Amino acid sequence: MRGRHACLGLIFLAFGFFLFSCTSQMTEEEILAHAEEIHDNVLTVDTHADTPSRLLREGWDIGEWHDPEERSSGCIDLPRMKEGGLDAEFFAVYVGQGELNPEGYVRAKERADLMLVALYQMGKEYPGLVEIATSPEDAYRLEEDGKRAAFIGMENGYPIGKDLALVEYFYDRGVRYITLCHSGDNDICDSSFERRNPEDNGLTEFGEQVVAECNRLGIMVDVSHVSDRSFFDVLRVTEAPVIASHSSVRAICDHPRNLTDEMLEALAENGGVIQICFVSSFVKTPEPNPERDEALALLEEKYGSLREISDAETRKKWREEYMAIREKYPEERATVEDVVDHIDYVTDLIGVDHVGIGTDFDGGGGVDGCDDVSDMPRITEELVRRGYSDEDIRKIWGGNLMRVFREVGNTANQ
Ligand SMILES: [Zn+2]
Repeated sequence: MRGRHACLGLIFLAFGFFLFSCTSQMTEEEILAHAEEIHDNVLTVDTHADTPSRLLREGWDIGEWHDPEERSSGCIDLPRMKEGGLDAEFFAVYVGQGELNPEGYVRAKERADLMLVALYQMGKEYPGLVEIATSPEDAYRLEEDGKRAAFIGMENGYPIGKDLALVEYFYDRGVRYITLCHSGDNDICDSSFERRNPEDNGLTEFGEQVVAECNRLGIMVDVSHVSDRSFFDVLRVTEAPVIASHSSVRAICDHPRNLTDEMLEALAENGGVIQICFVSSFVKTPEPNPERDEALALLEEKYGSLREISDAETRKKWREEYMAIREKYPEERATVEDVVDHIDYVTDLIGVDHVGIGTDFDGGGGVDGCDDVSDMPRITEELVRRGYSDEDIRKIWGGNLMRVFREVGNTANQ
């Protein structure tokens, strides 16, 4: 028996070497053909796009193809999703952080409700192209049918205000992840990007209840945007794995929105997943440009910061001048290769089971080579080029996220 095992082992070794030499000797043409085959066959999931804000715009139709070269086109529409072979998108019901008072909570919930209505309206208008999805099974079924799966995530727990019952309210309306906060502290937790009060107080007592309620219902808790202390507080109290729906690696790009090695290791321990974000400044630290910094400082001196300007006319002027500065002093943008460097890093540190893709399209996401959803195959091509196996690529593109989604559902049903 021993001899036979050794013999089998040798055969496996030889086969493994054969596979290895296949990948390393593939021509560019073979790489592209193989990538296309994988991209078509695996479930492809992007866990973050801010497209619902565009749904509320007059005259923009998600069912129509828009030219990616035009600025006004945005990064996602249903025909381009199909073109880019993206099977499932988590559309973010995003509400910016406002005042923590009853009027603020009412306004935030109204805004979230409007986006939810718009998403269901999209489902009604284009039943042949897309369906609102709420479970992993939905995603795989719709993939078989050749239709897009539209999942709903909520970016910022602010619309919940201080009313725990609203977590179930949003669950009932299809929300399957909640990003606990955005760029400011709220009643749930402190944010990684709060400038007014930089002290980090982590997750609040109410926030602990929100996490428990998400666990009870089967909503994925999203730790993108939260402060470092909030992150570890969440991991301490959650009973289910969590996701970072759109975050990158801090060791490569030192930004408070990104996850440190210690956070990544804790995330792996929790069984969760980091979905690499495509916002250029979270992927690659921009080269310093003192002239641009000075121009931006002058802009702030002239008008104050954008978040403090309430008058629409002044906001418009601010935006125009801001864009002119960006054009005059362009920043070097990150590339597809840079994005895949983040995937490599996570894979080397905590394994291929804890990484995925969360573009942040229509919310600032987009890199050279993958600027809109029709460019999604470029990611798969780079993964094949770097020698990732078909199974690894299946996990990265959605397998890992769906595993977490299932586990979150199992925890809820216990
Ligand atoms: Zn975001």
